[in-house]
Amino acid sequence: MAEDCLFCKIIAGEIPSNKVYSDDQVYAFRDINPAAPTHILIIPRKHLTDVSAASGEDQALLGHLLLKANEVARAEGLADAGYRYVINTGKDGGQTVFHLHLHILGGRHLDWPPG
Ligand code: AMP
Ligand code: ZN
Repeated sequence: MAEDCLFCKIIAGEIPSNKVYSDDQVYAFRDINPAAPTHILIIPRKHLTDVSAASGEDQALLGHLLLKANEVARAEGLADAGYRYVINTGKDGGQTVFHLHLHILGGRHLDWPPG
């Protein structure tokens, strides 16, 4: 757990969240400011500042994160219509919380390219 990390505090239960899925490696919860009818964040329990902080030892963890995101998307009823995964990274990427998180967005048509 990293000091002063919002998402580490959510994992630890120190800050409340609306849990969607949890296991020994990842935690998924609803975004507090949804950008789509379904907006879920899935995060590794391990504190990684962003996706670029991952290394070879995180290969299985990142694979697990993506496969569990697929399960969450399916369980949320997004599989047929489609959905989008987003990993904002760094300042230009629009990252505001520096604990790696995958956004799962769906429930409406999503424009492309992003602003
Ligand atoms: P990003 O801009 O990619 O770093 O995304 C951070 C996301 O975290 C934003 O979509 C926020 O709405 C979301 N967020 C911030 N605080 C909370 C919280 N306490 N519970 C749930 N989601 C949060
Ligand atoms: Zn953290």
